[in-house]
Amino acid sequence: MHNKTLAELAQGLKRREFSSRELTQHFLERIRRHDRRLNAFITVTPERALADAEAADAALARGEAGPLTGIPLAQKDIFCTDGIRTTCGSRMLDNFPPPYDATVVARLAEAGTVLLGKLNMDEFAMGSSNETSYYGPVRNPWNTDCVPGGSSGGSAAAVAAGLTPAATGTDTGGSIRQPAAFCGITGLKPTYGRVSRWGMVAFASSLDQGGPMARSAEDCALLLQAMAGFDPKDSTSVDRPVPDYGAVLNRELKGVRIGLPKEYFADLDPAMAQVLEAAMAEYRRLGVEFKEVSLPNIGLSVPAYYVIAPSECSSNLARYDGVRYGYRCRDPRDLEDLYLRTRAEGFGAEVKRRILIGTYALSAGYYDAYYLKAQKIRRLIADDFRRAFQEVDALLGPTTPTPAFRLGEKTGDPIAMYLSDIYTIAVNLAGLPGMSVPAGFIDGRPVGMQLIGDYFAEDRLLNIAHRYQRETDWHRRLPPDFA
Ligand code: GLN
Repeated sequence: MHNKTLAELAQGLKRREFSSRELTQHFLERIRRHDRRLNAFITVTPERALADAEAADAALARGEAGPLTGIPLAQKDIFCTDGIRTTCGSRMLDNFPPPYDATVVARLAEAGTVLLGKLNMDEFAMGSSNETSYYGPVRNPWNTDCVPGGSSGGSAAAVAAGLTPAATGTDTGGSIRQPAAFCGITGLKPTYGRVSRWGMVAFASSLDQGGPMARSAEDCALLLQAMAGFDPKDSTSVDRPVPDYGAVLNRELKGVRIGLPKEYFADLDPAMAQVLEAAMAEYRRLGVEFKEVSLPNIGLSVPAYYVIAPSECSSNLARYDGVRYGYRCRDPRDLEDLYLRTRAEGFGAEVKRRILIGTYALSAGYYDAYYLKAQKIRRLIADDFRRAFQEVDALLGPTTPTPAFRLGEKTGDPIAMYLSDIYTIAVNLAGLPGMSVPAGFIDGRPVGMQLIGDYFAEDRLLNIAHRYQRETDWHRRLPPDFA
């Protein structure tokens, strides 16, 4: 059952080949058996899962099932879950049971899904390897000496290893796409504002966006359908109808124009380039026309991001003061001691580094030189994309510079770690939708192809990805140790 797509599982449920309870038990058993090696889950919620499954089976019996009724899934531990601890990968929130559900969690529950548990992640979603988690690193199911990517590394590893049929992730600079690429699954970062951020622990508010992580584009479409849409509780959520993503999935690609940003291919590793060329050949057979385009300011995206994201994080994380909720140091001498020790003990090294950088960049006298300057660069990058989308329907490139790297390989060198998001970050700065789609392997490690769409063109992106997945089976492979 764990190698099936959501659409296949939904069909099995409707035809009574298995119940949601059986399906749920199957995945709980796989988690019990395999997660010791992966560390993908921070919290498993078997009682909640079985209660959800029972409700779903009742709905199925009444003939009231929707496309996701009875499907188990797991949430990245950044999404608040009512009464279920939500750690965000941090000691700071180790003991935090939120008093409400995030909108994404509530909508997926309303759609009849079953909650298996909460997934490991980099602390406060800051990282590209899942090694900054207070709960320890996650391992890549394709090669357990390698990282799964981050920050949604638990989500990617759990889906890849068949511990859950699907998961949620969040993407501030690549955290859905990069781990999806490293673990050989499909991940979609929607347009900024498409999916509500309410109840999603904030890292960098102008960049954060939640999205689906699953085996296939078709599965991502099913999940996005339930997750997307206006939310009056999130002032940055966009009031715009949600299209029927399933309706256009199979549209023919004849005459579709896909741009190849020359900056994405200039210094690309030859083995990565070879994988992408094979994917392009597949697309040509489907009638796609490729065209070189240029994003001249793209080289500024990592430096701009590492001013904007830390600045916003330094402001967002000011709320963890040991007073209101979360971790509190023992026996504070006075208020200052409470603040200082709570934050010194509650946050890990990468989070502290970001807070320090952000506080510096926002301080009086430096704001114009750093944050404001970075915002101007952000506009230039968005304009680059706007020009490209006047000529093409989507862009294609690598998701990452290399396949998954080894655990520990980049932990001593933050800049090297930051550069692993060099192909994903610009998409967040511009607020565009982007996907990573499995496209091959290098030395047994999966390679992701990135597809970037125009604003709110998730339907087109999913269509382009799905037609490719009809011709290929990269997304169907299971890591041998977890097959
Ligand atoms: N790796 C990037 C960072 O550390 C992006 C993380 C993310 O998208 N949440 O900030």
